[in-house]
Amino acid sequence: MKCQLCDGKYRKRLVPHTQYYRGELVVIDHVPALVCDKCGDTLYEPDTAERIEEIISSRKKPSRTIPVYEYSEALVGG
Ligand SMILES: [Zn+2]
Repeated sequence: MKCQLCDGKYRKRLVPHTQYYRGELVVIDHVPALVCDKCGDTLYEPDTAERIEEIISSRKKPSRTIPVYEYSEALVGG
């Protein structure tokens, strides 16, 4: 499959997915995705997107927790 942005090729990779859910940062690690080898554009299969939604909305206890840093306090809440 070809990238529509840059003509690069998509390759299957496991990526960390990050997203805000109800104001909280949620991370899911090792999500199977198609990643463009040139520009890094990331696509999920419909099944994968569904599974991500399921995991996030289930609100079950995370497998592990990670440190989250603010790049700059000045940028928060703006
Ligand atoms: Zn691309």
